[in-house]
Amino acid sequence: MDDVRTTAPPVPSGFSVGLDIGGTKTLAVLLGHEGQVLAQSRLATETGPVGVVDGAVRAVESVARQAGVLLADVTGVGVGVPGLVESDDGTVRHAVNLGLDGDPLDLAHLLSERLGGVGVGVENDLNVAAVGAAHLVEAEEPDDRPTDLAFLALGTGLAAGIVLDGSLRRGRTGAAGEIGHVPVDPLGPPCGCGQRGCLELYASGSAVTALWPSITGRPAPVELFEAADAGDPEAVAARDTYARAVAAAVRMLVLTVDVRHVVLGGGVSQLGEPLLDVVRSALTDESAASGFLRSLDLPGRVRLAPGRVPVGAIGAAVIGRGHAARVRDLAR
Ligand SMILES: [Zn+2]
Repeated sequence: MDDVRTTAPPVPSGFSVGLDIGGTKTLAVLLGHEGQVLAQSRLATETGPVGVVDGAVRAVESVARQAGVLLADVTGVGVGVPGLVESDDGTVRHAVNLGLDGDPLDLAHLLSERLGGVGVGVENDLNVAAVGAAHLVEAEEPDDRPTDLAFLALGTGLAAGIVLDGSLRRGRTGAAGEIGHVPVDPLGPPCGCGQRGCLELYASGSAVTALWPSITGRPAPVELFEAADAGDPEAVAARDTYARAVAAAVRMLVLTVDVRHVVLGGGVSQLGEPLLDVVRSALTDESAASGFLRSLDLPGRVRLAPGRVPVGAIGAAVIGRGHAARVRDLAR
């Protein structure tokens, strides 16, 4: 299986489209030759096997039309889905939020057929986000060395997508980056995975809700940070407990794969700078007693996922571009 490189393989012509299909909305982008976003669009997600394929075709057509690009000039399409994906052949095994929980859906093949034989790559949503974040970092901070980055999703669960030496790292069974299920407290509460005290129970978005349940119906992280800002000592303690757990996830990623960047994404990251501030100060506090940790500059490695940019769709387009190159190679 070829690795997906975040930096562009030399594609002589053609445009690539990326789709990030979520449970309710689908984000689409069209990337130009230099990897720049030429068009983007947001559509309601259609579910079920037929709906997912139809919706994906419509999303590709929508950005192509917007950019004034013929479908025939789109050479690669990438798709991110929230579920279990066989990236080798682009089959979606399981994506409950998309109504795909029966037979596996041969999404890459079906979509390619509907789009005139274009190369299609399919990955899970976390992997496309990691590739997208790496692409954006490379554009923002050009570096001679290949990108090492983790995209840490603070959502319902906790997991990281990992790019090493500029390539997506899936691992043997696709479990690379599943740090949410590393137990951090053997006496902790039971986790859905069957172990106890997993990191996910402390550092995910669900963990915030458990620490500080929402009263007004707004997201729990927003209420927690507001209460802490207002000086409520219990809220300050809960916020700092959460920040230490996220800091533990960052430390775990850096100490395992020594990534240059840990990008905070997922629902909780919508808190923005206030989240980054408390996570950085937790990392600084922990480094105070350890010259070893200080030497790693953990606070300097953490950053926020860009809020206004469809990171996942951009990563999917980068993956699509890799598939375009592969189809071209095969045709030689
Ligand atoms: Zn677990």
